[in-house]
Amino acid sequence: MSPRYLGGNMAGVRGHNRAAVLCCLQEQGALSRKGLSRALGLTPAAMTKITAELLEEGLLRESPAPALGVGRREVLLRLDPHGRCALGVMLGLGRAILSGVWLDGAVIFSETVPLPLRAPAEETVKTLSRRLLALAEENRLERSKTLGLGIAVRGTVAADGRGARSTFDALDEGDFPLCDRFEAYTGLPALLSNNVRALFAAELFLDRERRPDSQFFLRCGSGIGGAFALHGRIWEGEGRQCAEIGHIPVVRRGGKPCHCGKCGCLETVASPEAILTEALLRLSPEETPLLWQAARGKGKENLTLTDVLDAARGADAGAAALVDRGIEYLAGALKSVIYLFDPGKIVLYGKVFDHPYFLSRLRAEMDLGVDGSHRVPLQRSPFNGTLEPKAPGLLVAAAFLQNGGGPESAQKGL
Ligand SMILES: [Zn+2]
Repeated sequence: MSPRYLGGNMAGVRGHNRAAVLCCLQEQGALSRKGLSRALGLTPAAMTKITAELLEEGLLRESPAPALGVGRREVLLRLDPHGRCALGVMLGLGRAILSGVWLDGAVIFSETVPLPLRAPAEETVKTLSRRLLALAEENRLERSKTLGLGIAVRGTVAADGRGARSTFDALDEGDFPLCDRFEAYTGLPALLSNNVRALFAAELFLDRERRPDSQFFLRCGSGIGGAFALHGRIWEGEGRQCAEIGHIPVVRRGGKPCHCGKCGCLETVASPEAILTEALLRLSPEETPLLWQAARGKGKENLTLTDVLDAARGADAGAAALVDRGIEYLAGALKSVIYLFDPGKIVLYGKVFDHPYFLSRLRAEMDLGVDGSHRVPLQRSPFNGTLEPKAPGLLVAAAFLQNGGGPESAQKGL
């Protein structure tokens, strides 16, 4: 349990003010010293001192504001995104994405490495670390500017936040100390998060629009994942398992086995992978005529979820029935989220939400049996499909800014 009350000393206040300046500029883009003083409630003298320090350290840069008439032009301050960088590993099922990002999340490099199912943990971390360092070198990233390594992993995270408890078949070992092992092979400090929470953190970091106080993030990739944020911060839960929406048991009897070890989880009936698998099982000229035609054209083994959704949209009753069944389960779980947490919006992330049939059916299903005051906007992420290479490194960048930048505060958070 963390202490409820903490005293402040001068060093703490300095770090707090530096963090306020860095985070304010990250969110708002560019401001003058006067604008920053006003926004943060600090005296102009204090602001001059803090910004001089941050400029000296290469974290900010200055540019003249556009001229609005006669008189002195104001100088604007903004983060220097190239002042620091971070490396990242997104560890998923059957693949890892290695990447490097600047402080603003711009991708410096990104490479997808295929992995076997249940990849040998130690060997995999060693191979990925070596490749990542080679990529950093190829891209001429200076070690002194590299803040650390962010790791986003599928499955559940250990209570201390530094290891994986279960990667749901991505690695062959449960309870694996990912941070320690990556740190040993790369020599960089590491931060770890569940993959969906990392994607949501990246979304919140990059989203400059006025956000509601609370949001729920739904990710449909091969599986289904969720995350919940309050006042811009992600709630991890007591056991760091918030919000495993994909593993809510929804099929009471005869449910299919899930990667998590249970049977009948939401993701076994409603995930894109589950819907495609079910469609392939039921493929026949009688039951799914349009999908059957598509299979004759391109081969059954080449059918994708898009083919199933296209068939459903084109009045293939069999394909539509099984897609709709999945959506009904998914909407049921989301309605529980709404009634329990009353979020300001639900952010949808995943390729499946780009398909008009899936999105319109989900919206229609969400309106059923729900009174007006519980209709929460469903918004497809403006960053849909782009966050995977950014999210792990942004864990490190965000921690660095929130700790006030600088070597001593970076170490505190990493
Ligand atoms: Zn499960």
